Amino acid sequence: MGFCISCGQQHQDGIRFCRFCGNQQPGEQLLARLRQEAEQLHYLRVQAQALAQQQQQQQQQYSQNQYNQQPRW
Ligand SMILES: [Zn+2]
Repeated sequence: MGFCISCGQQHQDGIRFCRFCGNQQPGEQLLARLRQEAEQLHYLRVQAQALAQQQQQQQQQYSQNQYNQQPRW
């Protein structure tokens, strides 16, 4: 059982339009889109974390390089 997103009346699962108010209900397409968006957000978050790690590593490498490049006299 689901509830109409517009009028709140209870209706059967899997219907496309509310039989009380006629509003379109979130169908599989919308659910799939939401799922896709959630996956994208997850992907972006993972990417941002990877980027932050990369930058940290680069900074570490940079400071190491600076140390190595110090003139030795
Ligand atoms: Zn309705």
